[in-house]
Amino acid sequence: MTRKRLIKNASVISEGRRIQADVLFDDTILAVGHNLPADKDTIVTDAQGLTLIPGLVDVHVHLREPGREAKETIATGTAAAAHGGFTTIFAMPNVLPFPSKPETAGPYRDLLEEKGLVRVLPYGTITLDEAGKTPTDYKAMKELGIRWFSDDGVGVASKEVMRQALEQARKADVLFACHTEDMAYRRPGASVHDSPAVTSRGWLGIPSACESAQLIRDLDLLKETGGHYHTCHVSAKESVEALRQAKAAGLDATGEVTAHHLLLEDRDVRGPMWKMNPPLRAHEDRMALIEGLESGALDFIASDHAPHTEEEKCQPMDKAPFGIVSLETAFPLLYTEFVASGRWSLEQLVNWMSTAPAGRFGLEGTGDIRPGYRADLVLIDEARPGVIDKRTFLSRGSNTPFDTWPTACTILETVSRGRTVWKDTGTEKKGS
Ligand SMILES: [Zn+2]
Repeated sequence: MTRKRLIKNASVISEGRRIQADVLFDDTILAVGHNLPADKDTIVTDAQGLTLIPGLVDVHVHLREPGREAKETIATGTAAAAHGGFTTIFAMPNVLPFPSKPETAGPYRDLLEEKGLVRVLPYGTITLDEAGKTPTDYKAMKELGIRWFSDDGVGVASKEVMRQALEQARKADVLFACHTEDMAYRRPGASVHDSPAVTSRGWLGIPSACESAQLIRDLDLLKETGGHYHTCHVSAKESVEALRQAKAAGLDATGEVTAHHLLLEDRDVRGPMWKMNPPLRAHEDRMALIEGLESGALDFIASDHAPHTEEEKCQPMDKAPFGIVSLETAFPLLYTEFVASGRWSLEQLVNWMSTAPAGRFGLEGTGDIRPGYRADLVLIDEARPGVIDKRTFLSRGSNTPFDTWPTACTILETVSRGRTVWKDTGTEKKGS
């Protein structure tokens, strides 16, 4: 039984508003209100001047274990999550063996639960071993509690296989999270957006249609099949428009955008640390993503945390793997760029990083600070600036383009289910 704790006098983001309140919790939030009494066994923290937000929810994380532990493990990835304010994360299924069948998915689910410092929920694959040939048995996986499916890393190339998969998913009432990528548009070695700003440096480009063409195909299929569809890491303005139209037509389609696609553009790219898939696109694409989020065409933010070893990321641009780490940088950087600047309220950012993803992925009692909800909480100091320092990362990966970027706030403590899973002591440093 978790000991009761009372956080007093915080500025609390609760039910979409900012209120001055006390929050009493054990592993569940017991009360939110003014002058809440504490009995003698309750631990009391005075948080005057500090802000309490619900634990962040990230539906797109690569933990790499089992199979690629040199890049990340469940222990290091979830420690990084806690450090970055995330208390629920979804693990992408491109691990070995793939969680494609109950025989592999059951033990995988148990491993995540056993080793995760915060809550980790597993995706199953859309097709067996992400091979794009045979739809997974969604009903059998759902019996294990796995209700989310993705072939992240590759698109499902065959329209007919995708149609079958969507039909079966609708019958099983599960959610797809699709990485859309039509490989007909991607030449070998292509690693940046297909625009002169970057291809002029000799790097091969990946056109926006690589993403948007398959998204449009999927949304057309969804019209026929029905069901629940979410699209991963939207990067192109054409994809934002396709989602907007799908929603207007009444389809159950949602989309996420990553922190890095909101913060960076093609012209920022300087080398493999800026290489991700989909790539950083043009200024007008980034503006369409920001406006898409603000207008509801896009639904929330995810990290696409993709750790790699230093050796891998130090290769030439065309050889280095796609992806950057993001769990420990996403919230403070987005806060700095959009909240501290006055464009967004903290309530909006919290909605997009906690309430909205929890709602879409059907997580009851998650994504808000209100009685009966999980005691997943993050204490932040909005008056204490900081700096992104990759030497402080708890992730095994330090592949980030954001090292040394200033931040306008500091995460002081992360509480997962009533338990402190990360606390700032001002001196945390990862041994070199
Ligand atoms: Zn992906």
